Formats: sequence, structure tokens, C-alpha cells
Amino acid sequence: MSSSDTGIEWTDKTWNPTTGCNKVSPGCRYCYAEALTERFPQNFPKGFQLTLHPERLQQPKRWRTPSRIFVNSMSDLFHEDIPFAYLQEIFSIMQETPWHIYQILTKRSERLVELAQRLEWSENIWMGVSVENQRYTSRIDALRQVPASVRFLSCEPLLGSLHLDLTDIDWVIVGGESGYNHRPIKSEWIDEILQQTREAKVAFFFKQWGGKHSKAGGRLLDGRTWDEMPVAWEKHIIEWQKKFPRQHKLHELGQKYLVSVK
Ligand code: SF4
Repeated sequence: MSSSDTGIEWTDKTWNPTTGCNKVSPGCRYCYAEALTERFPQNFPKGFQLTLHPERLQQPKRWRTPSRIFVNSMSDLFHEDIPFAYLQEIFSIMQETPWHIYQILTKRSERLVELAQRLEWSENIWMGVSVENQRYTSRIDALRQVPASVRFLSCEPLLGSLHLDLTDIDWVIVGGESGYNHRPIKSEWIDEILQQTREAKVAFFFKQWGGKHSKAGGRLLDGRTWDEMPVAWEKHIIEWQKKFPRQHKLHELGQKYLVSVK
């Protein structure tokens, strides 16, 4: 499977300059990326083994519509087997395509901190960490040390109650697990996080309840959807449409999820 449009609600496209990973914490137990490699072996000849795909590095340059691009939906960009020089190449491509917003998400916050100061963080690179239960909130402290313009949390699959320090955090995504063996999310865990984001004035995105498949439980929380984005996304789109209306097709502004909190 190569980069493409995606059904992930908080992004527009995925870009996978690497695929494959190995498990580091309880959120990885039913990793959807691993499941995809098993389901489509013809697309992943090396299975879930970490694999570099240098032939994909230039792909974002061919996408002219300013988009939110989830980097490495099939891997973890800060995996220890990804050479630093290769990471630098990925960061260079992100800098050379400032009409896009890049959303990087990692569970490897230690390597993130180790390398962050040696990487160039242009305005269009957003950095996030996964936090599935309280034990992994130290990843947020690591994230705070990264000079990214937007810092975000993905609490998916949410596996327990979370008490979060949201200082310098711009966005929180929450979602329940999906798949045959999914571990059910509790509504009180979601409510607690929502409340904390209201107090801290942080954008909140409720992705899904989860269930046997990702759409099984729907996305409504108390009868409504929560599709807030950091204000940086709206600013980015307005700026690119004003400055370069000919070079870049209009992104569909006016989407109801463009709700800014900060
Ligand atoms: S870090 Fe992400 S991609 Fe890697 S095994 Fe865990 S859930 Fe899967």
C-alpha cells in the first residue's frame, strides 16, 4: 500500500516513507498497521519488518492541494532502525513543501527528544505523541521539549482514565479501539479528557467509539461530533489560498470541523 487519501478523520492523506514497526506499549497490542500488512501481503512483501521506501520520498511534491498529511501511518517515524540521515531527508521534503501540514505521531518519545534539536522544525510540521493510559503521560513531557509549531496528543486506543498536563499542547485526539478483540473505551474517560481540554482551551477531536470495526460505534459524543482542529490549520489554509490561488487548488474551507479553540 502506498500513500493515498485516507479514512482517518483528522487528516487528509497518509505518506509512508517507511513501513513496519515493532510493539513498544499496550496501545500497540492490536496495531492496525500490522493487521494491514497481514491482510494485504502482496503490498507488503517484507510484512511488518521495518522497511525504508526512498522511492516515496518525493510524493508530497506531486500533491498540489494544501493537505494535512499523516507521516508514517504504517510505522513510527522515530523507530530506532530509521537512520538519522533518512529522517533528515524526510524533514527536508516537509520543508520544501510548505503548502502542506505534516502530522507526525510517535510512541518513541525518547528518540524524539534525543534527535529533536538536530532536526529542522518548519512551521508546517506538527508533532504528536500517543498516550493510551496514565503510565505513558511522560511522553507528553518529552513532546514539550520539541520545538514544533503545534504539539498534539493521540489518546487512541484510550485504555484508561487520563489526568493530563496540557501546558503547551494544542490538540487532543481521543478514540476507542477497533477490531475483533477491541478493548472497550469508557464514556467517563472521554468526558474527563474533554473537560480538561475545555479548562486548558485546547482543541478536542473525538475520532470514534470503536468496536468490531472503526465505524461500529460511530463518532457522536452526547449527540454531537467533536472535530476541533488547532487554529494553525485554519490559518495555514487561509494563508495559502490568499498567497497562491493559482498554484494550489482550493482546499474545502467551510468544513464544519474548522473550529478553533485557541
Ligand atoms: S508504535 Fe504504532 S506502528 Fe508501531 S507497533 Fe505500535 S501502534 Fe503499531
